Amino acid sequence: MTDVLGMPVLVLNRFFQPVQITTVKRAMVLLYGDAAEAIDEEGEARDFGAWRALDVREGDDALPIVGGALRVPRVVHLHRYDRTPRATVRLTRRNLMFRDAHQCQYCGKRPAMRDLNIDHVLPRSRGGDDTWENLVTACRDCNLRKGWKTPDEANMRLARSPFRPKWSMTAQLLMGAGWRFKEWEAFLKAS
Ligand SMILES: [Zn+2]
Repeated sequence: MTDVLGMPVLVLNRFFQPVQITTVKRAMVLLYGDAAEAIDEEGEARDFGAWRALDVREGDDALPIVGGALRVPRVVHLHRYDRTPRATVRLTRRNLMFRDAHQCQYCGKRPAMRDLNIDHVLPRSRGGDDTWENLVTACRDCNLRKGWKTPDEANMRLARSPFRPKWSMTAQLLMGAGWRFKEWEAFLKAS
């Protein structure tokens, strides 16, 4: 099961341009602290108070809160943030996991985030470096099983070759990786 707090949320700047992807956990901090408003699929922006009053519908992801459940936002708007999108995707643990859709690249499982590791395809001890092309998301079991071997030596197969994202927008990669929320579409088409 996917960890709701680790799911991706599209972040827009003041001009409604996508600037990055964050996690539900971070988006909730922004929303609660009034740094951001949540945007629904009709494009309507709501502050935390108004958002928490929304119903959780069939098929929504939700978080438990005092007195009920909170619908998970897919898009947040930083209404005071002026900067424009980054040109490249930063190589971080979080972005790697987004690229691989939180899925073990060896066995295909999607465990909770805490049970996912980052695996060096060519192990560090053998000269493998920290690059998009040498790092993949792996479950704990596969990571342990592979140990200091290459995939060939461990008789394991990668679901696909790890790659460096070419575009400037993390969200397009996420959509390619299988994250697809209808709330994102209007903003990604425009950018
Ligand atoms: Zn695995």
